[in-house]
Amino acid sequence: MTVDGRAPLARTIAEVRDRVAAARRRGQRISLVPTMGALHAGHGALIDCARRDDDYVVVSVFVNPIQFDQRSDYEAYAINLEDDRSFAGSRGADLIFAPGVDEMYPAPQRAFVEVAEIGNHLCGEFRPGHFRGVATVVMKLFQIVQPDKAYFGEKDAQQLAIIRRMAADLNVPVDVVPVATVREPDGLAMSSRNRRLSPGERSVAPALFQALETARSCIAAGGGPADAKEAALRRLASVPDFRVQYLEVVDPGTMAPVDRVRGPVRIAAAAFLGETRLIDNVLATPVGGNAE
Ligand code: AMP
Repeated sequence: MTVDGRAPLARTIAEVRDRVAAARRRGQRISLVPTMGALHAGHGALIDCARRDDDYVVVSVFVNPIQFDQRSDYEAYAINLEDDRSFAGSRGADLIFAPGVDEMYPAPQRAFVEVAEIGNHLCGEFRPGHFRGVATVVMKLFQIVQPDKAYFGEKDAQQLAIIRRMAADLNVPVDVVPVATVREPDGLAMSSRNRRLSPGERSVAPALFQALETARSCIAAGGGPADAKEAALRRLASVPDFRVQYLEVVDPGTMAPVDRVRGPVRIAAAAFLGETRLIDNVLATPVGGNAE
C-alpha cells in the first residue's frame, strides 16, 4: 500500500523484517529488487516483473560504499529518496528499504562474499573489489529480507552471473530472475549515470549499443570473436569522444572471453565518454545456434 502515491519507507533492518514478516503472515511471497536508487524505467521493469507475480515487493535503495573502487564515483552518486519513493509507489512497490551506511555497516565489514573467476574478467579486471562489494551487499540484503525471488537486470550481465552463482554455490533459497535491458528510443541502455552526460556526449552515446549490434550481426553471420570485436571497435573509433575500456566476446556463464563461437555468447563493453563510464552488452547467437 502506498502513502500519497509514495511507497512506504523502512530505514532500519528491524522495520523491514517486521513488514516482511507481516506480509508472510498474510500468505504473500516476498520479492526483492536491489537498487542504488535514482530510479528510472530500467529499475521500473524489474519492479513490474516482481509486481506481475503479485508478491510483496521490496525495493532496496542503498548506495553501497564497499563496491566503489573510486571514491569520486561514490560521492557523485546522487539520489533523491522522495523521488524514488514516488517512482516505486507509482510502479506498485510495497516498500522501499533505504538503510543508512551505519545501519548496513555498523562496524567495519570483515566477512565478504567472493565469487571466484566470474569476477576476474570485464568490469572485474578494471574495478578491483567491485564484485566482492556487490556480492557481499546482495548477500546481506538476502539475509535481511529473505526474499523468495530477487530481480536483476541483464544490463549488468556480469553482476547477474555472479549473483546467480553465489546463490547456487551457497545454497541461498532465492530464485534469481533476470530482466531484459531497457533502452532509450535511440538504443542507449538506461542508467543512472546517463544523467552525468553533457548534451554532446548524450548525442553520441548510442554508438556503444550500435557497436555491440555490429558485433552481434557479425557473429550471427558466422564471424568469429576476433572479427566481431574488430568490427565493433571500428564502429566505436568513428566517435573520437569514446575511450574504450574493454570490448569482449564472452561465455554467458563464466564471462570469460572465448576464442571460438560454439553457442550463444555475450558481447560486453565498457567505455568512457568524458568522465562517465558506460557499460552495455548484448547476447549473440551464431547461425544455427539456440538462444540460451
Ligand atoms: P543500479 O541501481 O544501477 O545498481 O541497478 C539496480 C538494478 O537495476 C540492477 O539489477 C541493474 O542491472 C538493473 N538495471 C539498471 N539499469 C537497467 C536497465 N536499463 N535495464 C534493465 N535493468 C537495469
